[in-house]
Amino acid sequence: MKLAKPSFVALLCMAAGTAQAQFAVPDAARVEKIADGLHVVMGVGGNIALSSGADGVLIVDDDMPPVAEKISAAIATVTDQPVDMVLNTHWHFDHTGGNQFFAEQGALIVAHDNVRARMAVDQVSRLTNGVTKASPKIALPVVTFDNQISFHLNGQTIRAEHVKRPAHTDGDAIIYFTEANVVHMGDNFFNGLYPVVDISAGGTADGMLAAIDAALARVDADTVIIPGHGPVSDREGLRQFRSMLDTVNQRIRALVAQGKTADEVVAAKPTAEYDEKWAWEFMPAERWTRLMYDSAVEAIAMENN
Ligand SMILES: [Zn+2]
Repeated sequence: MKLAKPSFVALLCMAAGTAQAQFAVPDAARVEKIADGLHVVMGVGGNIALSSGADGVLIVDDDMPPVAEKISAAIATVTDQPVDMVLNTHWHFDHTGGNQFFAEQGALIVAHDNVRARMAVDQVSRLTNGVTKASPKIALPVVTFDNQISFHLNGQTIRAEHVKRPAHTDGDAIIYFTEANVVHMGDNFFNGLYPVVDISAGGTADGMLAAIDAALARVDADTVIIPGHGPVSDREGLRQFRSMLDTVNQRIRALVAQGKTADEVVAAKPTAEYDEKWAWEFMPAERWTRLMYDSAVEAIAMENN
């Protein structure tokens, strides 16, 4: 198993609903340029995309509250302008945790309808039994959308598209920076890590696969693909993630269809050849197998309705 990186420890605390101060705040967030006027900022939570230029500053996701000032400082190494807009890929705390900080500085928060709905009330995670408390009003998205919304700034068409069916959650958006040929996948792509599937928020692995396929149909060999977690990637990286997720999902669905219990599925070790590369501290093989079992049960129940 690989050593936990700070972001993963942070995610663990987020998901467990424990104190937010239990992870090490890094000295600074990392900034990586991926195209003219486009950067990725990596703190401790989800990866942030930063569009800056003559028309203003837009960020996709904003990490967690304890690192908001570090994120802000990292953004300031790229632009001296304030953040005008925050676009959230989904409701999770490690992607929306800076909303309050940036809203208080004047940023407009934008997200899918279900992001606002979930952030407005306490959320209980079936994976961890942890509670994410309702967000204060100022942290909630002010502009929400159903299917898609487009932004036109800094020479880019930035299009947020809701995925057709619940995937990582029921409020996911995939963000396309059209002219730059860059995509932010949110948490429908964990690069090199077994992903979280938020079944409590309507998510299933089958939905994630559909979301990934929709994105793969739109990208090419030159597309820069930003995962929700892990290093910046490309089409090949996303294909590898899809292959792993699809293979494990099919195996576990077959076992569920045979009437196997969760313990029997774990004993069958359906993830064995993937564990060395994809397992990590928050998502070791057994926990992920049980999560995928629950996902398969949910997906099959939905299909039979
Ligand atoms: Zn997430």
